[in-house]
Parts: sequence; C-alpha cells; structure tokens
Amino acid sequence: MSKLKNKVAIITGANSGIGLATAKLYLKEGAKVVLSGRRQEALNNIAKDLQGDFITVRADVSKDEDNINLIKQTVDTYGKIDILFLNAGIAKPIPVTSISEGHYNEIFDINVKGPILIVKEALPHINDGGSVLFTNSVVHQKGFDGLGVYSASKGALRAYARVLTSEVKSRGIRVNSIAPGPIETPLYGKMDLPSDVVAEMGKGFAAAVPLGRFGTSEEVAQTALFLASDDASFINGIELEVDGGLSQI
Ligand code: NAD
Repeated sequence: MSKLKNKVAIITGANSGIGLATAKLYLKEGAKVVLSGRRQEALNNIAKDLQGDFITVRADVSKDEDNINLIKQTVDTYGKIDILFLNAGIAKPIPVTSISEGHYNEIFDINVKGPILIVKEALPHINDGGSVLFTNSVVHQKGFDGLGVYSASKGALRAYARVLTSEVKSRGIRVNSIAPGPIETPLYGKMDLPSDVVAEMGKGFAAAVPLGRFGTSEEVAQTALFLASDDASFINGIELEVDGGLSQI
C-alpha cells in the first residue's frame, strides 16, 4: 500500500491525537512527512517510535516567524509540498458571559490566523495538483454550550476554505476540510476543566452521537488519507463530517 508514495506532506499538530495518527498513516503510505508541533520535547518523544522518511519542525502556528521557518525547512529538506494538513487547534469551553479578549485571541490566533498564514507561506511551494486539508469541526453546524469562540473559529476557517478553493482552482489544488465529531484524543485533557466535568461532557457527546460513541484518531486519519490521495481526485471544496452522524440528526 503506497497511496502517497513520494508525496511530501506537512502536518501541524502532529505530535498528538488526530495529527499523530495521520502522520503514522501517511508514513505507512509512503509519504515524506514534516511533523510540526509547538513543543520540541513532544516531537522528540514521538520521533523515537516513527518509521519512514520524516523530519520534525517545532513551530507555534500562532507565530508568523515559526510558520515561515516551517515552510523553509520543508522546502530545504524535500524541495516541494504536495499535502498541507492544517490540523493544529485548541478548544477551551467558556460560557459566553465569561469570554475575555485573551480567550478570543488565543483561540483565533491558533485556530484561524495560523492556518491562514501558513497557507500564504506554503502556496508558492505547493505543487500544482496538490492538496490542502483543514481539521475543522462539526461545532459550527450546531450550538454547543460553552464553545462560542471555538465554534466561531471553526466557522471562520470553513468560510476561508471556500475562498481558498476558488483562488487556487487554476492550479488544480484541491482544498477540503474534515469535520470531526467527538474524537478520543488528549484535547479534552487540555480544556482547563476539572476531570469530572470533562467526563460528564464526554458522556453527553457520546449519547448525542447516533453511533453512541467517540470516534478514534485513526478513523479521522483514514479520512485525511482519503481526501489527500488520488482516491479523492474529484472531491474539492467540501467539509466531510467524521462524526458518527452527530451533525445529521
Ligand atoms: P490534540 O490536543 O491531541 O492535538 C492538537 C494538536 O495541536 C497538538 O499536537 C498540539 O500540540 C497542537 N497545537 C495546539 N496549539 C498549537 C500551536 N499554537 N502551534 C502548533 N501546534 C499547536 O487534539 P486533537 O483532537 O487531535 O485536535 C486536532 C484538531 O482536531 C484540532 O484542530 C481540533 O480543534 C480538531 N477537533 C477535535 C475534536 C475532538 O473531539 N478531539 C473534534 C473536532 C475537531
């Protein structure tokens, strides 16, 4: 199996959850992978267990100089980009009455500004016929308490992806988004909430999913493989839900 043979893929947020599962799958499918994450120590730890042709690049997606360096290191090492998977993101639930400027800036800087500026840096180096993928979320399709700014950030990214789809069409670059429902990843432990509150929230999400459970990172990674590969050669501009049906009923 080598659906991505010799393809060069950048994955942000690659040291954990969905990004890490996708990095492993892309490597298995023959891609050369640039794994990017905010902490070098975490990148070093996961690198020990990976096999294949890859490099790690520390980059905080909210910092433009880091994004410029991420693209430079990729091009210096592999010469081009075929797949840009903009997956890094954070979610911190806060009721609308408690939203602060700091909360807003943190979420939007990472979830919206980062991907948009990385695309700008990467586009001159993406091969014609390449693929840009965003990890979005189903949260902008329904109202989930506490996720006001997070949902707004994912809605903004969805709107941006439509414009990007149009602006790169002459180069045959496909732009698609993945909208996961609740997926079992370390994300929930980073929400600055007590563990019992997170557990209750998780039970509520699982009960709302028609399939009655959380998804796995590997299930999302399979979708990221499909959308980036030639199997999805006529799929462009969409947002594909990987949510056990949560967004549909
Ligand atoms: P995760 O916490 O395991 O992974 C998030 C990754 O983003 C981590 O590698 C983290 O280091 C990275 N990251 C965070 N801030 C960063 C920054 N400033 N610069 C660079 N990297 C940064 O969680 P996950 O669930 O795998 O999340 C991946 C994506 O999936 C996110 O965009 C998230 O919004 C989205 N998502 C997750 C779920 C879910 O239920 N887990 C549902 C819908 C969407």
